[in-house]
Amino acid sequence: MPGPMDDGNDGYQDNPAAPEARLLPVQDDPETAGFWEAASRHELVIRRCGSCAAVIHLLRSYCGICGSWDTRWDPVRGEGMVHSWTVVEHQVHPAYPAPYTIVLVELHDEPSVRFITSVPGVADLIAGQPMQLTFETVEQDNVLPRPSMSRITHSGTSLRWGSTANPTTSSAAGPFDPAGCP
Ligand SMILES: [Zn+2]
Repeated sequence: MPGPMDDGNDGYQDNPAAPEARLLPVQDDPETAGFWEAASRHELVIRRCGSCAAVIHLLRSYCGICGSWDTRWDPVRGEGMVHSWTVVEHQVHPAYPAPYTIVLVELHDEPSVRFITSVPGVADLIAGQPMQLTFETVEQDNVLPRPSMSRITHSGTSLRWGSTANPTTSSAAGPFDPAGCP
C-alpha cells in the first residue's frame, strides 16, 4: 500500500497532530522583543551597544563589554554563509519531524553574529556556502527567520555530522563536532 514507510518507531512520527504543535517564540521578553517585532516586518536586526557599539549577541538588554543599558537595533541583510551544522536524526518534538539539519549561519554584515536555524531533511551543506535568511510566517505576529533553500547550492559531496572532511579554505568551522566542546 502506498504511503509513508513505517520505521517501527512508535514515537512522534506517526502523530497526525504534529503540524499543530509548532513552538513559537515569546514575543514580549524585553531582551528579545525588538528582534521579533522587526521580524514581523520581515526585517532582520541585531542588537548593538549605543555606547561602545559592541554587538550584543546573544540578546541582552545591556552591554556585556561596557555595562551600558543604551542599546539599539540595527538592520542587517539576511545574507550569510554556513558556519556549521548538525543533523538531528531522532525526533524529540512532534512539531519537528526527523531528520532535520540545524544550521549555524554567519552573517556577512556582522560575522560575529551567527543565527541558529534549521532546514528539513539531511541537508547537503559545505562550510562557507552562501545562505539567505528569509522570513516564514508561522501564524499572525509570529515570523521566524529561516534559511532560503533556493540559495543552497548542493555540492554532490555529503558532509555529515562528525565528518572531518572540509573541502573549503573558508574560516567556517564545518560540521559540528561534539568532541570539540569544552
Ligand atoms: Zn558597550
